[in-house]
Amino acid sequence: MPRQFFVGGNFKMNPTSQGQLGSIISVLNSADLDGTTEIVIAPPSLYLIPLKDTVRSELQLSAQNCYYKDSGAFTGELSPAQLVDANIPYVILGHSERRTLFHETSEFVAQKTKAALNATLKVILCVGETLPERETGQTAAVVQKQLQAVVDVLQESDWSDVVIAYEPVWAIGTGKVASSAQAQEAHLDIRTFLTQAVSLAVAENTRIIYGGSVTAANCKDLSTQFDVDGFLVGGASLKPEFVNIVNARR
Ligand code: PGA
Repeated sequence: MPRQFFVGGNFKMNPTSQGQLGSIISVLNSADLDGTTEIVIAPPSLYLIPLKDTVRSELQLSAQNCYYKDSGAFTGELSPAQLVDANIPYVILGHSERRTLFHETSEFVAQKTKAALNATLKVILCVGETLPERETGQTAAVVQKQLQAVVDVLQESDWSDVVIAYEPVWAIGTGKVASSAQAQEAHLDIRTFLTQAVSLAVAENTRIIYGGSVTAANCKDLSTQFDVDGFLVGGASLKPEFVNIVNARR
């Protein structure tokens, strides 16, 4: 079975007004979108429930984070149970901004991944190396360590609801996109790791998407790589060019 092409839009803490959000959504709602691409957008959590009624059915919604407990005294957190109750199918976990700015460890990300999957959410699990790590040849080792923490807590069957986003930290929001060869190499390394650490079936079936300065201009070339199954898009997901990225394989 070929892996379905997947494009996610990570809005991060944008936009700053409901008016601007409406403009972004109206572009997507009227666009000619490739029906073979699975499309997910992750607005700030404040907007998830209202957007369910305004966004076209081809666009699925995702939270940008959640906690691992279902309820309780955890001020500021959002629970997997709440997302499921609100019919939000996806959550992004382990984004580098969460790992760096909010000090999330790989073990914590793994704990949240397990909790989200147990609650029946699907997870966009982000991994990736920093520039010094790449420059010292540690890319594969760093990514494998991040993934191993998740492998340690998941069952093989859990992986059917996981999309792995390979997002080199040096490429996120910098305009410095990975070359197609760099992306393909990292994605193949991840697939090889999954074969050894989980199973051949999981390695072959899990979508591995690329994130980091993806634009309309560079997405087509990246999308031709065998192990690149789509994109997680930050800045460009707020712009009309997100449509071109969704349609990269057309
Ligand atoms: P960017 O962000 O496309 O703005 O580089 C990607 C991401 O952080 O997911």
